[in-house]
Amino acid sequence: RTFSDLSEQYSIPPYLMKNITSLGYNDPTPVQMQTIPLLLHSHEVLVCAPTGSGKTAAFLVPILTLLKSPRRVGFRAVIVSPTRELAQQTYRECVRLSSGSGFSIHVLTKATASANSFGPQSSLKFDILVTTPNRLVHMLSLDPPGIVLDNVEWLILDECDKLFEDGVTGFKDQIDEIFTACSNPNIKRGLFSATLASGVEEFSRAHFDNFVRVII
Ligand code: AMP
Repeated sequence: RTFSDLSEQYSIPPYLMKNITSLGYNDPTPVQMQTIPLLLHSHEVLVCAPTGSGKTAAFLVPILTLLKSPRRVGFRAVIVSPTRELAQQTYRECVRLSSGSGFSIHVLTKATASANSFGPQSSLKFDILVTTPNRLVHMLSLDPPGIVLDNVEWLILDECDKLFEDGVTGFKDQIDEIFTACSNPNIKRGLFSATLASGVEEFSRAHFDNFVRVII
């Protein structure tokens, strides 16, 4: 199937189809082919596919489609990347795919933190947040919290095998804290990983009642 087939079936918005085409994405990659319909049907997923297989668009295309239009009621989609470099990369892909949509997107990492004073009120202006666990947990720990996650409809943990890698302590606790802070009972979550190593599967089973595995 092509992106046009998906677009017809799932009403992918015209701005997004235009951006997909101008990025030169002719056909969905295998991980996109399987994951985009699942997320569009609001399934929670554990996606395991190699680095470079198109995982970023696999979650951004359905999220942009389902958020429909900017509401700016506070972050509605949060994407957590293990490092600030990966967060920047995902942010850039999100900016490219959302061009013309009116969505406002914010990237929040240690490197960007000093560049903008980010108070509780300013979080109201954005639809999508791309961040790292460290930075997000720091914002949540401020009194009053520097960020409010009550409206989050989509939470994506990207490259989560890196989050759970042996030797990296504390990430699991941070992710637990983030899951708790996203208090919307209808939230949908996706875990994306290059491997099934290091507790990714156990984490999914512990946190999700139901999830669909996509293994490429
Ligand atoms: P990712 O795995 O998300 O980091 O994507 C790897 C690279 O593949 C990035 O440079 C994307 O721009 C590109 N890409 C993603 N989806 C497609 C597609 N359907 N067709 C061609 N290239 C793609």
